[in-house]
Amino acid sequence: MLASATPSVIFVDDDRQLLDSLRDRLLRMRTGWDMHFHDNARDAMAELKNTGSKGAILVTDWMMPGTDGLTLCKRFTTASHDKQSDIPHYYVILMTGRQGIENIEEALDSGADDFIAKPFDTRELVARIRVGIRTCHLENDLQAANMHLAKQAITDPLTGLLNRRRALEILGTELDRSMRGTQSMAVAMADIDHFKNVNDTLGHEAGDRVLKVIAQRLQAVARRYDAVVRWGGEEFLLICPHAGQDEIRSIAERMRASISASPIETQSGNDPLSITISIGTAVVAPGVKVAADAIVASADRALYAAKHAGRNSVQCAKLGYH
Ligand code: GH3
Ligand code: MG
Ligand code: MG
Repeated sequence: MLASATPSVIFVDDDRQLLDSLRDRLLRMRTGWDMHFHDNARDAMAELKNTGSKGAILVTDWMMPGTDGLTLCKRFTTASHDKQSDIPHYYVILMTGRQGIENIEEALDSGADDFIAKPFDTRELVARIRVGIRTCHLENDLQAANMHLAKQAITDPLTGLLNRRRALEILGTELDRSMRGTQSMAVAMADIDHFKNVNDTLGHEAGDRVLKVIAQRLQAVARRYDAVVRWGGEEFLLICPHAGQDEIRSIAERMRASISASPIETQSGNDPLSITISIGTAVVAPGVKVAADAIVASADRALYAAKHAGRNSVQCAKLGYH
């Protein structure tokens, strides 16, 4: 449940009278919640789906004709209790006239978060719902923090591109796919020409600005399913699944042209800088086993050749072709 959103609380009981009197009492208490009342599980389920990413508190009777409260509870809590999922959190309070410790045990073991025995004082129910709202907020905060950390772990902070750690994972997957399948794959390693001069003459901040603009331009040139990576200082790697020799050459050529075509603004007052990159590509034939460091080393050698060929140029290497 989002901290800013009005909490949604859904009540389900086949006892219409109980539901009506509960509604009256809660309305008088001015809880400020977005409340919904249903006399069967099916309608409640539809309502829960409507709450979308907000999540909700579900207060349900146990024994009901059709789908009972425990079944309803299981449907909604199994997915939302999975810490990896981004499904919103639901908090379920089971209300029942059934007494006995085994019943409480069964309810909580089935995924209910709390249990209240009928008849109950409305103030107790309200207090328990408040605990549920608090719990949902905490769980959603935790989920958001986890997602943020997971993203940070694979992102280069300066450019927002994928980092080397993530690139190595993707390379492993794509090389494996290409080895088992019928499609080649390729990479392009790009390195900024004479980048040290930018730092030396305009300062590190201007250098950072150039890195960011280059990252954006490379991203714009890449195909939707290519991975654009900041490999290291001023080196960028493009991982291109299903790319053959012709494709990677033309992608690399587009990358090169996208940088040299227009100068880069570093700070107002200074003339825009003409920047170029050199690129080495490596393509792996389908069905051939190649390690991630081998394809990168091959692209690096081609890059070295591109530097020697005068920079602002592309050189291509092949692996596993006869
Ligand atoms: P070449 O054409 O042979 O590639 O020459 P170069 O000057 O680009 O290569 P060199 O390896 O000598 O210098 C790379 C420079 O990149 C040195 C380093 O300070 C700079 N650099 C690396 N990472 C960053 C960064 O995050 N920000 C900035 N501003 N500079 C960086
Ligand atoms: Mg360089
Ligand atoms: Mg370099």
